[in-house]
Amino acid sequence: MHEMALAEGVLQLVEDTARREGARRVQTVVLEIGALASVEVEALRFCFAAVTRDSLAAGAALEIQTVPGAGWCLPCGKRVPMRELHGACPNCGSYQVQPTAGTEMRVKEIAIE
Ligand SMILES: [Zn+2]
Repeated sequence: MHEMALAEGVLQLVEDTARREGARRVQTVVLEIGALASVEVEALRFCFAAVTRDSLAAGAALEIQTVPGAGWCLPCGKRVPMRELHGACPNCGSYQVQPTAGTEMRVKEIAIE
């Protein structure tokens, strides 16, 4: 389960920011998760709650925004929507699709007090 490692990475970034800003508490963390990032949202929520328990981010709300996946289809020569990594092109059925969007997870916003 790589969600634990992801949650720890998020916490580190959040704590660094919170300390730099002199925050007492982290209220909300907004994450952007790509549809092709292979992240189990429920598992990530669980791990986030576990790793933040004794941190500045304890009890922080985790808001998750999904970024749609997209790729460049070689045979079609255009950008197409993708539902899964290594999925077929919805137009021509080819698997020669290079993912161009929605493959990453990033911290978009942090609300502190
Ligand atoms: Zn295609």
